[in-house]
Amino acid sequence: MALERVQKAALLTRLVAYGLRVYYSVLRRTLSAKFTTITARTALPPTDPSEVKNVIVVGAAFAGYFAARILATSLPRDYQVIVIEPNSHFNFTWVLPRFCVIEGHEHKAFIPYTPAFFSQGPKDMVRWVRDRVTSVRKQSVVLRSGEEIPYEFLVIATGSTVGDGLPSRVGTESREEGMEILKGMQARIKAATRVVVAGGGAAGVELAADAKNQYPDKSVTLVHSRQAVMHRFGPGLQSGAMDALTRLGVDVILGERVDPQSADGKFITLGSGRMIECDCFVSAPSLWLVLRPPWCGLSLTCNGQINCTGQKPASGLVADIAPKAIALSGHIRVKTTLQIDDDSLPNVFVCGDVADTGVANMNSKIAQRQAEIAAHNVVLAAWDKKPSYTYEPGWGDGIIKLSVGLDRSITHFWDGKSELVFSHQESDPAGVCGPAWASLAARPFEDTGVYSG
Ligand SMILES: Cc1cc2nc3c(=O)[nH]c(=O)nc-3n(C[C@H](O)[C@H](O)[C@H](O)COP(=O)(O)OP(=O)(O)OC[C@H]3O[C@@H](n4cnc5c(N)ncnc54)[C@H](O)[C@@H]3O)c2cc1C
Repeated sequence: MALERVQKAALLTRLVAYGLRVYYSVLRRTLSAKFTTITARTALPPTDPSEVKNVIVVGAAFAGYFAARILATSLPRDYQVIVIEPNSHFNFTWVLPRFCVIEGHEHKAFIPYTPAFFSQGPKDMVRWVRDRVTSVRKQSVVLRSGEEIPYEFLVIATGSTVGDGLPSRVGTESREEGMEILKGMQARIKAATRVVVAGGGAAGVELAADAKNQYPDKSVTLVHSRQAVMHRFGPGLQSGAMDALTRLGVDVILGERVDPQSADGKFITLGSGRMIECDCFVSAPSLWLVLRPPWCGLSLTCNGQINCTGQKPASGLVADIAPKAIALSGHIRVKTTLQIDDDSLPNVFVCGDVADTGVANMNSKIAQRQAEIAAHNVVLAAWDKKPSYTYEPGWGDGIIKLSVGLDRSITHFWDGKSELVFSHQESDPAGVCGPAWASLAARPFEDTGVYSG
């Protein structure tokens, strides 16, 4: 007991030291960028548009959107930032498992992209292109529309994709369709009497806990192939999640896999042959680490009801130009400067979930931190300096906040040996949305439509 207390105190001290270190490195880069910003602001853009050079950012979520903002404020005036993103709105992934269950909040998951986010940079610095990049060449990208856009520097922030969707992604590019898809899932769960959720990672635990909390009279079963839910994290989070599920009345079946094809609207069969009653099946694959080669992404349809998907890094864009840079996991290999690990492409940077940075459990904070480092390195290179900022995974990155029912959550830090676990009471089931909108310069919850600058 005393040893445990000492370990926890040591962990807390490390955590504070780690936080200070991260804060110091962010401050250093920000101050340097501020200096650059002042220089950039006072300069005039070239009068001849053909002299303007492009920095292209592919993907505008936690990595790309934030990288674009730094670029917009710090690049020399003979550059412009071109953001290419197919989604009409920023998809706020964190709340998707919850909004599969609770009604009336789905609009909060779609945050409008807005020029206000770039207000600290010169007015004409950002060009927004609602499209999808279909291939990357050495000096240009090609869009779904067929347009080819040249680049001086490229930032790939394409994250991960799923075959069809929920609870990890909505699987569509438009807000309206996304909201309809969420409402469809809510209706299916509401109409069901026996819900089976496969996957005891964060999305599965959150969805199962919320479903049982919202509908205590329904039977909710969580099936997980490992011997503990949240098995990628420390024992304190595993037992905290398990206790919360049990307290809510979720049946948890461990060490079993579900055969999604067997769902017939009445029963579903487990790997052992056991059959359980089920009129609503949801597959929730692990979210924060994908150790699946790109050629093995799953996209199954179960019983014509609910799509079951596996996530994989969206690295296909570099398959032609830098095939050796794609790791077995499907992520894009990078140097510590976040330049792609291919010496022939020094102007291509990669950040966020798609990058192979050795992080065990990716999250949006890490994606943002990587974006900031990649963007600052692009700025250095644009000012003819050597990219010198580096990203290395730090144990303090491994923080997770897991919701376990509509009014409780657990925050967990783990360094592989000792852990810190905090339980919280939550008052608003969609409480996280307001701050997220505000941090993206959007007024909660006013939809301003698609980006128009
Ligand atoms: C259900 C769920 C819940 C989560 N909860 C949390 C949480 O509570 N806390 C937390 O910190 N993290 C959470 N995460 C993890 C977090 O969402 C990811 O780490 C983060 O989204 C990674 O950001 P990203 O920008 O790298 O990639 P993504 O979020 O995957 O975004 C990639 C972007 O690139 C775009 N894109 C893809 N391909 C192309 C292309 N070819 N051309 C143009 N654009 C393209 C996509 O449209 C998308 O907008 C959660 C993830 C999920 C799925």
